[in-house]
Amino acid sequence: MSNKDYYSILGVSKNASADEIKKSYRKLVLKYHPDKNPGDKSAEEKFKEINEAYDVLKDDQKRSAYDKYGSNAFNGNSGSGFSDFSNGGFSAGNFGDFSDIFEQMFGDSIFRGGSRSRQQQSGADIRYDVAITLREACTGTNKNLQYTTFVRCDLCSGKGYDNKYTPTICPNCGGRGSVRTRNGFLTIEQTCQQCGGQGSIISHPCRKCSGSGRVKDKKNLDVKIPAGIEPGNQIRIPNEGEAGFMGSPSGSLYVAVSILPHDIFKLEGHDLKCTVYITMATAILGGVIDVFDIDGRVHSINISHGTQTGNQIRIKSAGMPYYQSNRRGDLIVEIVVETPVDLSIQQRQLIEEFANKCTDKNNPKTKTTRDKFDKYI
Ligand SMILES: [Zn+2]
Ligand SMILES: [Zn+2]
Repeated sequence: MSNKDYYSILGVSKNASADEIKKSYRKLVLKYHPDKNPGDKSAEEKFKEINEAYDVLKDDQKRSAYDKYGSNAFNGNSGSGFSDFSNGGFSAGNFGDFSDIFEQMFGDSIFRGGSRSRQQQSGADIRYDVAITLREACTGTNKNLQYTTFVRCDLCSGKGYDNKYTPTICPNCGGRGSVRTRNGFLTIEQTCQQCGGQGSIISHPCRKCSGSGRVKDKKNLDVKIPAGIEPGNQIRIPNEGEAGFMGSPSGSLYVAVSILPHDIFKLEGHDLKCTVYITMATAILGGVIDVFDIDGRVHSINISHGTQTGNQIRIKSAGMPYYQSNRRGDLIVEIVVETPVDLSIQQRQLIEEFANKCTDKNNPKTKTTRDKFDKYI
């Protein structure tokens, strides 16, 4: 897919403010709305493009991902530059039906009964990236997360108004929060201008949160990361996202877990893989070597005589645990035979003596390779 320039689609500069983007979007989306351009395919395409662009640029997180990776970051559902939450919470490019778009734009509900006022706006979800060690992924761990977000205003308990002055029912909308107007064949339901969709008039908004019922504050949260977590897994913690407006439900916190590279072990599914060097003598004669697993337990493994570089020895159930299970992956030990270096004169002589006594029988693969090349020419 080609990389789209979302800024030029919305007719704004790269450093446009959120407000500028919103304004430009509103203008364009009204101009190209399918209801205003019936049957006009190019307007419809444009309308989709505008929404796609706005869907990304209105969201700080998506916008910065876009600035870094371009629109290709949002193609497909996952595995791209911008990872989606498994439940699709942050998936891009999906802008639902038209009324959803208008809801996002104006906070109104058009073409639909009922109204969605500020009062009913839930808090947004938050993503928090955490990197843990492989050993922590194996044993499980606790992490302390610190972040700043909207929390419920404690002065008004999220209600948004001073307790001494109870709100009165809005005379304009009779408490519905929305008013209907007819525009040709369309009935448009819009947020009541007088009460801002709340259905009530607040004479004394809370002085701490100015009526929103929420304020920005630091949060400090201990999160348990279970054993067997896999890279890219996300832990959803309900109610720890942004607080909603005026006591509406809070969003969720998604803890996105990545696992740091390990010095010795490499994660392959639930198996762990490590490379172990053995001496030439052990490779030739056979022997026993000790191998540690990720938990630090020792496993003595037999090296059979004639072991080659690349041979693998599988230690059952010494890999990563499965989530909420007693099952574990395996530890795969890959053998590399180390060729001795820095030989003394005497050692050299011994090897030369040894080599002179070797026949093709001792090095069958070397012989096979040579034969193949001979035939090739
Ligand atoms: Zn009203
Ligand atoms: Zn308040």
